[in-house]
Amino acid sequence: MESNNVDVMVVGAGFGGLRALHALRRFGKSVQVIEASDDVGGVWYHNGYPGARCDVESYDYSYSFSAELEQEWVWSERYATQPEILRYINHVVERFDLRKHIRFQCALLRAQYDAKAARWRIQCSDGSQWSAQFLLMAVGQLSAPKSPNYPGLNRFGGQVIHSAVWPKEPVDFTGKRVAIIGTGSSGMQMTPVIAQKAAHLTVFQRTPNYSVPASNAPISAEEDRQVKANYRQRRDQAWNSPTGLGFTPGKKSALEATPEERDQVYEAAWHRLGFGFALSYFDILLNKAANDTAAEFIRKKIASVIDKPELRDKLIPRDHAFAARRPSVDSGYFQAFNRDNVELADVREFPIVEFTAKGIRTQDKDHEFDIIIFATGFDAFTGSLLKPEIVGRHGMTLKQKWSAGPVTQLGIGTSGFPNLFVLVGPGSPSLLSNVMVSIEEQSDWLANMIDHMGRHGVAEVEVTEMAEQAWVAHVNARAHETLYLTADSYYNGAEVAGKPRVFMPYSGGVRGYRRLLHKCAENGYEGFELRDKPLALHGQAVNAGAKSTSVATADLQPTPVGA
Ligand code: NAP
Repeated sequence: MESNNVDVMVVGAGFGGLRALHALRRFGKSVQVIEASDDVGGVWYHNGYPGARCDVESYDYSYSFSAELEQEWVWSERYATQPEILRYINHVVERFDLRKHIRFQCALLRAQYDAKAARWRIQCSDGSQWSAQFLLMAVGQLSAPKSPNYPGLNRFGGQVIHSAVWPKEPVDFTGKRVAIIGTGSSGMQMTPVIAQKAAHLTVFQRTPNYSVPASNAPISAEEDRQVKANYRQRRDQAWNSPTGLGFTPGKKSALEATPEERDQVYEAAWHRLGFGFALSYFDILLNKAANDTAAEFIRKKIASVIDKPELRDKLIPRDHAFAARRPSVDSGYFQAFNRDNVELADVREFPIVEFTAKGIRTQDKDHEFDIIIFATGFDAFTGSLLKPEIVGRHGMTLKQKWSAGPVTQLGIGTSGFPNLFVLVGPGSPSLLSNVMVSIEEQSDWLANMIDHMGRHGVAEVEVTEMAEQAWVAHVNARAHETLYLTADSYYNGAEVAGKPRVFMPYSGGVRGYRRLLHKCAENGYEGFELRDKPLALHGQAVNAGAKSTSVATADLQPTPVGA
């Protein structure tokens, strides 16, 4: 058992877990990473569907901790494909010698906090058992795939694939009749690519989605040289932008501009900015009337590329504000419906009744398929976090503690679960940010906290109840300033029936969030209790050179999303 004692157990070997490993190793901590699958990469390992690519620009969706890494890696396209991102992840793993710390095909089954020893006792799917002072969950926010359970699913004689559990062997669509269920980012990305190969493609749509063109392009040697000569400025710009994507929000309200000005601004953003389109004016996500101007522009754009008039009405989103749900950044999604071999099945009009041996029966007809793809998304934010049984100080599980929704201090920890940390979890900017910026910020912050604890003889750190209540109230208050609550989405738990309906990501922006993280640390990890002995041993908190006060709500000054 001796060798199974580590300082930190990191769960997950995706971008987050790998970055946390790197940060913790710098402080000389012994770290074990466990990974349920057989290789590194997390979602980028599993989501190998045709057309999968990142919709954050390659230069920004990459680690910033090593200037050498930044300079030596050459991205081939503005938006990298999944295979290229996976090559990058593997390059990082080899270059920084991370693989030796990772145990594959080893899923976390159960972790129980030993309150007297102030250590987590951990059981894994491969039978291994571990003891770790800290448990760091880096399991991703979109890593628990969700498949509808249609009647007759098992009757279907063809192949059923989920976009997020894509087979490792190539899937040949040539001459095949294919169905895609779901029109989120995954469905929208794969549609134009599969359409080129399949004999026939039917896209089953429930909610029409907004999308902004990716304007993807190869990266020239000159562009690469220029970016790399100014990489620090580019990173600074990303870190100081609200979303971590580097876009500076417009200074004006969309409602102050004339219609002509707006058209010019939107037109320019449409052709170059991807997600940056949403920041053309600072109030697009804050004010419905402002949002309407952007939404209407997008609707016209979508209509202009769809040849068949009867499809326009069906494909154009009208039932929610632009970006209140996650929009897509696409490469020819709507244009794909101009092909003779592509058909739209609107499941709001004719719902899916059942699967049959040959395909799918909707209320109006029988469809025959060789391959059916579920692009139906995920149990977001909490799906993977709550899968293992995590038992805290009082014998309560995390699932019980979060039965009405996740409750955290800064999205990082929760009371009753000392020495447990969540990376890029609910209550942090996570999916409302360039997640790479959030991963790096939190990994370094947590590594510093753990180092601080080691140097000050702190055995146990635990979020206070007051702090987490204040933080949840703040996350809600920030969400109420926006249009995010006006739509059902995976941001607020609407994607899974019966899931608590709470807004999960922090919408205050990465810059504001970073300030709060730093302030928390400067004030002796405000909102966390740091104890030199486990609470269970002496029954009261002992301040080990650090404050253990809860967060004063006055410190949580709201700033608009677009600030
Ligand atoms: P998603 O955005 O949650 O979309 C799931 C789709 O499936 C929605 O259109 C949903 O319809 C539909 N759906 C779910 N259950 C259904 C059912 N029973 N019948 C019919 N339709 C059903 O999932 P995703 O497309 O996999 O994307 C998830 C997230 O992953 C993205 O928002 C993004 O954050 C990330 N992602 C990123 C990239 C990238 O960087 N390029 C690519 C892919 C994914 P409703 O809308 O009506 O629920």
